Amino acid sequence: MAVLPIRIMGDPVLHAPAHPVEEITDDIRALVADMLETMDAAPGVGLAAPQVGVPLRIFTYAYADDDGNPWRGVAINPELWIAPLEPGAPDEETEAEGCLSFPGERFPLRRSERALLTGTDLDGEPVRLAVDGWRARILQHEFDHLDGVLYIDRLDDGAWKTVQKIARKRGWGRPGQQWTPGVDDIDA
Ligand code: ZN
Repeated sequence: MAVLPIRIMGDPVLHAPAHPVEEITDDIRALVADMLETMDAAPGVGLAAPQVGVPLRIFTYAYADDDGNPWRGVAINPELWIAPLEPGAPDEETEAEGCLSFPGERFPLRRSERALLTGTDLDGEPVRLAVDGWRARILQHEFDHLDGVLYIDRLDDGAWKTVQKIARKRGWGRPGQQWTPGVDDIDA
């Protein structure tokens, strides 16, 4: 197992749709083990395969609710359904989202309150997640990664300008930028 480098916004693998997993091989099992380790090391609540440079439709997730109930796993070839968005502007505090591929920053973004995800796990067994609140947000965020969409792509023009300014300052927004949790001094 290993902590993998995480690609940063601008790397092409983050901005293209990922491919379906045809077969769950030992390589896929090893990748998922590394993704879980990398997600925990970051630390993050989700990690999609394109973020570690692999253009496949796989993501891992982990989030404990306020009562400490754990929620952790992997989704392979997922499909996602979401409830319609509530109208209005997102709350600056409670709807602020971040991404390990744009580390150290958070921007408010309106997401659907409820989501249903289906897919398979590493044994090829069906996964079905019907969740709300922050877990629904995580699934929407990670699912977006599989379609080459970052949450910053969904921000309004004003926030997007701020994103561009930050990216310019840090040398992001071009191919080949990455960071490794526990190695590079980035507070994700
Ligand atoms: Zn992300």
